[in-house]
Amino acid sequence: MTYKNEQNTNILYKGNKINPNRVSDPEVMPLYLSTAHNVADLDDLQNTYDRKGYAYTRSHNANRDGIAELMTYLEQSENSVITNTGMSAISTTLLALLTSGDHVVADKTLYGESIDFLKTLSKYGILVDFVDVTNLDEVASVINANTRILYTETVSNPMMTVANIKAIADLAHSHQSYLIVDNTFMTPVLFHALTDGADVVINSLTKFANGHGDVTLGSISAKAEIIEKIYNLQVLLGTTGDPFDSWLATRGIRTLDLRVKKQSSNALSLATFLENHQLISKVYYAGLKSHPQHDLAEAQFSNQYGGMLSFELKGDRQTINKFLQELNLTKYAMTLGGIRTTISHPVSSSHYDTPEEEKAKIGITDQLLRVSVGIEDEADLIHDFEYALSQIELEEGE
Ligand code: PLP
Repeated sequence: MTYKNEQNTNILYKGNKINPNRVSDPEVMPLYLSTAHNVADLDDLQNTYDRKGYAYTRSHNANRDGIAELMTYLEQSENSVITNTGMSAISTTLLALLTSGDHVVADKTLYGESIDFLKTLSKYGILVDFVDVTNLDEVASVINANTRILYTETVSNPMMTVANIKAIADLAHSHQSYLIVDNTFMTPVLFHALTDGADVVINSLTKFANGHGDVTLGSISAKAEIIEKIYNLQVLLGTTGDPFDSWLATRGIRTLDLRVKKQSSNALSLATFLENHQLISKVYYAGLKSHPQHDLAEAQFSNQYGGMLSFELKGDRQTINKFLQELNLTKYAMTLGGIRTTISHPVSSSHYDTPEEEKAKIGITDQLLRVSVGIEDEADLIHDFEYALSQIELEEGE
C-alpha cells in the first residue's frame, strides 16, 4: 500500500505519542515494546549513547532495566543483566568468562541441559570435569592450573543435593577461580549466594521468580566489572530479555517472598507425608532429617528449604502412569516454580538425553518423580497425593 498525501501518511504516526501534559507518575512501570526510540540528529544519538539512553531494544530497554534493578536488589549484588531464558543466562555467562584452554569443575547433578551445554564447551577447547560437589576432596582433586570456574546449583535439579556455597567459594578463590551458582530452586528469598562468597549468581526467572508460568527469562547478578564483560557479549549474542516478559516477571517477583515461603511449608508437609507412605521408597528434600545434607541446609537456609522435592514411587512405568492420571490438583508438566503444583519424570524430560551410566551415577532412576510444590491449601495438596496413591493400592489389591 502506498501513501500519497499527508493525510494518509498520518495514519502511520497518529496516536503514537502521549501528550506530556497528561502524563503524571504511573503507579506501575508502563510496558515499552518499541524496538527503537527516535533521535533528533547525530548529536542527539551520541548523547543517547553517552547517557546509556534508549535507542535500540537489543541493547537497552526500560522494562529490562527495571527487572535488572530489582534482581540486583534481591541478590544483594552490584549489578545484573536479564537474559531471554535461564539457559541463555548460563551460556552467556560461561562464554563471556571463559577462553580456549580453560577448565571448569561442575557438579554432576546439575539440571540436564546445563550439563549438556557444559559438554558443548569442548568444541571451543574448554574442558569440564563433573564431580560430586558435596565431596570437597573430590572437587579439590580435579582443580588444575587452568581451572577458571567452579559451577554448581545451590540445590540441584532433580536430586536436591545441597552445595556448601561458602566452602566451595573458598576453594575456588584459593585457586584464583570464580564460583558460579545457579540459585533457581532457592531464589534470593531463601538464599543469597553472593553473600556466601559466590562471584556470579544465575536464576531462571522462568521458574519461581516469575511464578505464573507465562514467561521465559533469566538473570545474572555479580560485581559491576563482571557484569560489564557479560553484557558486552550478551548484546552481540542477542540474548537480552524480552520487554513484555520483563514486565510480567517484574509483577511476579513482587509476590515472590509470599509464594516461596508458602511453597516451602507445603513442600515440607508433602515430603513428610510421602516419607511415611508405604508405596514411596525414597524422598529427597533437604528439610527432612533423613536428607544427607540436612544439617548444612539447616545452617545455610535458615529453616526453609524451598518448593522442590523428588521421590521414588515403587512400581513400574504402568504404576507411574496410573499415579499421574489419578492426580487431580497436581498436573504433569515440563516446568516448575509456578503457583500450582506440578510433577515431572526426569528420565522423560530434563534427563531424556542423559546416557544410562550417567543417570546411574547421579542416582536418577525410572521411578524418580520431581514435584514443584505450589501455593494450594496444604490439606488439599496432601489429599491429592494420598488419593492417587490409594488408587494404586486398590489396583494392586485386585
Ligand atoms: N537452571 C535450573 C536449575 C533449571 O531447572 C532450569 C530449567 O528447568 C534452567 C536453569 C533453565 O531455565 P530456562 O528453562 O528458563 O532456560
